[in-house]
Amino acid sequence: MMIDSCYSGSVESRIAAGQSLYQLLADQLRKDVHFMHEFAKLIGHAEDVNHHMGSMRLAPLCIQCSAKPTGGCCSLFMAGETDALQMLMNLFADIEVIPVRDDGNECIFLGENGCIFLFKPMFCLNYNCYHIHEKSTSAEIAELERLTGVVLCKHYELEQYLLGIIRRKHDGEV
Ligand code: SF4
Ligand code: SF4
Repeated sequence: MMIDSCYSGSVESRIAAGQSLYQLLADQLRKDVHFMHEFAKLIGHAEDVNHHMGSMRLAPLCIQCSAKPTGGCCSLFMAGETDALQMLMNLFADIEVIPVRDDGNECIFLGENGCIFLFKPMFCLNYNCYHIHEKSTSAEIAELERLTGVVLCKHYELEQYLLGIIRRKHDGEV
């Protein structure tokens, strides 16, 4: 598989690429002690972010905002921030990576209870709108930024590790 197809093409083609990668690599990754150890850390970091967002009560804010005629920030355009490696990591965490809406308006991964991903695209995770800033304390925002930074670093690290495996497979070394 060409690395380019992980990051380009339609969102549907990236979902297909993520699923192909999962079929190709899942067994190998489960036996990879280093990967499994680091992946468990990534899950823990993502759960820390979700826990903190929960304590900040961001979900009700976003649900309310999305229900307005102008909609929230998870637009259809933003689905283009996803990539096949990020989808592979979500599949590996037992997330069913499929489109959950098709209204031609909002992101196809925006479910009834928010984004379906445990590991969100970098841009999505980094985005804190003015509504969030308005209703939160600076300490809450600082902690949110710290926790998202930790997730994104680990996400990037594992993405590079996976890219190395894919390149070696492509070159016939593994
Ligand atoms: S992050 Fe902000 S703009 Fe996006 S849905 Fe939530 S409240 Fe609305
Ligand atoms: S956070 Fe999730 S639902 Fe929202 S735009 Fe990003 S991928 Fe789509």
